[in-house]
Order: sequence, then C-alpha cells, then structure tokens
Amino acid sequence: MNTNSSNIMALAPNTSTKRETVCIFGTGDFGRALGHKMIQSGYPVVYGSRSTQISNLIPKDAEVLSHAEAAQKAAIIIIAIQRQHYNFLTPLAEILRGKVVVDISNNLKLNQYPESNAEYLAQLLPGAKVVKAFNTVSAWALQSGALDASRQVFVCGDDVEAKQMVMNIVRALGLTPLDQGSLLAAQGIENYPLQLFPMWKFPMFLSLGLTAFFFFYCLALDIIYTYIYEKNNFSFFIAITIPNRICPVMALILLALVYLPGVLAAIIQLYRGTKYRRFPDWLDKWMLCRKQLGLIALAFASLHAVFTLVSPMRSFVRWRTSKGIISQALNNKTEPLDTTNAWLSDSYLALGILGFFFFVLVGITSLPSVSNSVNWREFRFVQSKLGYLTLILCTAHTLVYGGKWFLSPSAYRWYLPNIYMLSLVVPCIVLVVKFVLVFPCIDKPLTQIRQGWERNPKYSE
Ligand code: NAP
Repeated sequence: MNTNSSNIMALAPNTSTKRETVCIFGTGDFGRALGHKMIQSGYPVVYGSRSTQISNLIPKDAEVLSHAEAAQKAAIIIIAIQRQHYNFLTPLAEILRGKVVVDISNNLKLNQYPESNAEYLAQLLPGAKVVKAFNTVSAWALQSGALDASRQVFVCGDDVEAKQMVMNIVRALGLTPLDQGSLLAAQGIENYPLQLFPMWKFPMFLSLGLTAFFFFYCLALDIIYTYIYEKNNFSFFIAITIPNRICPVMALILLALVYLPGVLAAIIQLYRGTKYRRFPDWLDKWMLCRKQLGLIALAFASLHAVFTLVSPMRSFVRWRTSKGIISQALNNKTEPLDTTNAWLSDSYLALGILGFFFFVLVGITSLPSVSNSVNWREFRFVQSKLGYLTLILCTAHTLVYGGKWFLSPSAYRWYLPNIYMLSLVVPCIVLVVKFVLVFPCIDKPLTQIRQGWERNPKYSE
C-alpha cells in the first residue's frame, strides 16, 4: 500500500481529462447510488468498508478496501454512514488529516443534536477539511436519474478550496451546487430535508379553515333554510352547487390575500417613514407565502371553471329550463328578451373568462422555469400589474353576478349576507386601498421611502 501517494495529492483542480479518485466510506444505499453516478461521470471510485468482499450490488468498476486503505487512495472522502457510527473514524484521524471529508448525513428529527453532524465530524477529525453536501439528494433520485425536482445541492464548509472541489464534483454529476457559506450553515442544511412543505402550511390551513366555514355557511342558508321555510329538499346542492359557490369565493378571497400584505406593508412604511425597520413577523411570514396562496387560489378558480362548464348537463338545470318553457307554453305567452339581463350575464361571463385567463398567466409566470427566463422588471410587471388586473376582473365578475343581492332583502336569510357579498369584502378593501396608494401625493413619498429616504432618521439606528 502506498501511504505517500495521498500526501502528494494536490487539492488544485485537475487540469487533465482524467478525474481524481473519490473515496466513499460505506457501501449502503446512498454510498452505492453516489458511486454509480460518479463512475458514470468519469470518477474512479474506491469504497472504504468494514467488509472488503465485493457484492454484486456494488458498481462493478469500483474497488472495495478497508477504510484506511481506501482513504489513502483519494483526496476526497465522502462519508456515506449514519452519524451514530462516526466514532469509528477517530482512529483514522491521522490518515484523514488534510483531506477533504464530505458529510452527507441527515437526521431523523429537526435539530436532533446540539451541533450539526458536519460540525461533529469536524470535531472528531480536527485536521480534515469538512464540507457538507449531497444530503438533500436522495439515493433513489441519484440511481434512477429522477433529479428534475432536486438538482440543487447545498454546500457549506470553512475551507474555500475544499468546498470548491466538492462543488466541481457536484457540477460534474449534472447537479447544481449552492454555496451556503461556512460550516455553521450545516444545521440549517440538515434540517432542510426534514421540513414538510414549510411554505404551504399557512396557506393550506387557511384554505381548509375558510372552505369548511363557507361549506357550513352554504349548507345552512341554501339547504337547511330552504328545507325549513320553503319545504324544498335541495340536499343534492352538496355535489355541485355548493362547491361551485365555495370555489369562486375562495379563489377571490385568496387572490385578494396575496395582495393585502403588500398594501399593509406600504401603509406601515408610510406611517413609519422608513423602510429600515423590520415588518412584524406575521407580515413577513405572510409575504413569504404569497405564491402558495396564489397557486391555491388558481386551483379553486380552475375548479370553478370546470364546475361552471358542466352546469348545463345537470338535471336540476335542465328541469328548471324545461319548467320555464312549459310555463310559457301553458300561459301561451313568450317572455320577451330582457336585454339588461343579457348584458349582465354576458358581461359577467366575459369578465370571468378574462379574469381566469390573466390568473393562469400570473400562475404560469410564478413557475421557476418561467420566472427564471424573465428579468426582474418583467416578473414584477406580471406579478404586480397583471396580478392587480386579475383581481379587478375577478372582483368585477363577482360584483356583476352577486352585486344585486346587496339590495335584495330575500338575500339575507337568517339576517346573514349572501356568500358572494362576503367574498367581496377583502378584495374591495385591497382595491380601494391600492387605489388610494397610487395617488401621486401618496405614491411619491412611498417611492422615496422605498429608495431609502427617511422621514425621521432615528428609525434607522
Ligand atoms: P445505509 O444503507 O444504512 O448504509 C450505511 C452504511 O454505513 C452501511 O452500508 C455500512 O457500510 C456503514 N456502516 C453501518 N454501520 C457502521 C458502523 N458501525 N461502522 C462503520 N460503518 C458502518 O444508509 P444510507 O441510506 O446509505 O445512508 C448513509 C448516509 O447517507 C446517512 O447519513 C444518511 O443520512 C445519508 N443520506 C441518505 C440518503 C438516502 O436516500 N439513503 C439521502 C441523503 C443522505 P459498510 O457495510 O460498507 O461498512
């Protein structure tokens, strides 16, 4: 065994076409998947294992040696072993001195240990250059090549050169390295794969809560009320009528909630006269999940479009239409065309179609593959200007359809307003405040504040 070969191995990037040997400790699921991918990308791979017997699961071009022998063959050692077994590395500390040791481990719980696994590894191997990487990629995705959704590899470490070497390997494997800074970032990187849709939690809970509220609201007013006072059994409304009331209402309210934090932030900045003070935590969090709120709103709007398209097929609608025709025939009287109603219904449909079109456009632009292909100004134009246009069109669509109920006493069953009236409250507030904010006498100081001007400089201390 040549113990000197490791000492003369340079850390500088290899300029020859042959890639440097990479050592992987551990022949488990991840070690094998990573080894396969590395061999495919042209890296000679040597495994360090407790057993040097070659199994047919191990990539056929790889060598399997003891940990000490394998470590001496490479400048980069990837530790594909669970943290709880790391103490086997202590006797190898001298061999690993000066080498780049890559920690890829994850934990079972958020903040499971007081220090990150990578920092723990650095304590065990004080002479090694520890880098954290690859923990956000799964063995299955590496092996199957299904890396579309998880190409990003977070990398952190205290040694810049070592980090660069690992990032070069990440790139060579067809992945995208994201430098997260020093090893202090490792705890956050280890927590990342354990998070369950962190940005979706609030929008999901809010949508579920509001949907449940509106469902029971409609159930009470459209089914229970009509059953008690009109002796009509409209329980079948649960299948399509009520969902087709809840979906547009939810879409409109959630869309308005995407724009509400922006106008609140503007009011706060105008009141404080500075942009250099943090917004309250709840507003910060709300702003961060606007995209998710918008996408859920778009999902409700799409459902509304589908429910509306199937409406003419419903037996209730066909029964109502034929009842109208029969009553005209029985009375021997043809109802004249009410052009006001025709105007209202056509405008309502046109506004809905246009609103939905812009809604889809704004939704598509929020996809990373699309947003990456437009510049910041174009992105802002779509998300802000077209987004507000969508809100205006959808609010107008609801107003034309449901506005008449504001004045009709029959709409107030049990003294409660119709669901369409409720849905208009938040959008109207957002649009009115936004309208006030674009007045030059308000827009001018707001723009100045956003460019760094302060009314009272003590706020920036
Ligand atoms: P695994 O299938 O259980 O393999 C772990 C390997 O560690 C074993 O095959 C064994 O290799 C070695 N090992 C076990 N006990 C040991 C001990 N007492 N002393 C020394 N070596 C020991 O685990 P894995 O799924 O490959 O995961 C390995 C690491 O990658 C973990 O830290 C995990 O968090 C991380 N990771 C895994 C994935 C994934 O998708 N699986 C994704 C990201 C990160 P030998 O028999 O060759 O010694």
